[in-house]
Amino acid sequence: MEEYNRILGSYTTNKKGPLLFVTAAVHGNEPSGVKALQRIFEILNTEKPHIKGTIVGVVGNVAALQKKVRFIEEDLNRTWTQENLQQKNKDTAEKKEMFQLIETLENVYKPHHTERYFIDCHTTSSASLPYISVQELGKNDTFAHQFPIHVIRGFSDIVNGTIDGFFSKQGITGFTVEAGQHESKESEAYHEGVIWIALQEACGLNFDALQDIPPAVLKTMNGTPPQKTFKIIHRFGLKEEDDFKMQPGFENFQPIQKGENLATLNGTQINSVWDAYIFMPLYQSQGNDGFFVVTEI
Ligand SMILES: [Zn+2]
Repeated sequence: MEEYNRILGSYTTNKKGPLLFVTAAVHGNEPSGVKALQRIFEILNTEKPHIKGTIVGVVGNVAALQKKVRFIEEDLNRTWTQENLQQKNKDTAEKKEMFQLIETLENVYKPHHTERYFIDCHTTSSASLPYISVQELGKNDTFAHQFPIHVIRGFSDIVNGTIDGFFSKQGITGFTVEAGQHESKESEAYHEGVIWIALQEACGLNFDALQDIPPAVLKTMNGTPPQKTFKIIHRFGLKEEDDFKMQPGFENFQPIQKGENLATLNGTQINSVWDAYIFMPLYQSQGNDGFFVVTEI
């Protein structure tokens, strides 16, 4: 079994600038961001290009990543509630991970950092185009639109306790990037591409300072459809005891029409009441979001 430390890597050339804090595997069954960060730190440490500030890459859920499971006791992307943060209870594996992450962030943030950025790397159970999920707070939305992939607004407004909601409320600028299917090589490339572009946009990296422009950057810039911006208009939430089955074949951003059968819930057919797009259809056993509905802005 591979052993993971909290910090995957850290790189600076000691120039004044921001802290770019990248989290990967907040869900332990999503190793894609980890692999992307490992590749990036290998290139940075070999070729030593100048950047402003510091990039730090960390593992979100170390215990779950080691066991290759989504979480140990509870979803680490739902624990970041006001209540949990105030109570400081470390009564689950994930709350322990959460407070260790906060401590790590505090330890790597130095007085010479001008500002703070974050990227939280995720993947989905089904195949998907890569996209950014952004909370409309501070400079998040402007920053998100500097990346060449679809942008979704409204996720953090619907779902409480996400790590990107926590970062955003701290005044850290950033977003979540969902890169595609969990085990797909393409997901690793899109995570890598987005992190490289963040190094360019936030830390002033010039790609000419590298031996080659990383292929992942070219793939992210040229291999994805023109950017669109979407807004979440509905979350189909699930209770623990629910028997939910999504109709097969739905993909992110697939158009849906009023009356179309989307899923079955406890034996009852769920039909669309929207002319819109489907988003994050659930095709795995764990999770409490059946699907979302989004419209284009
Ligand atoms: Zn995830």
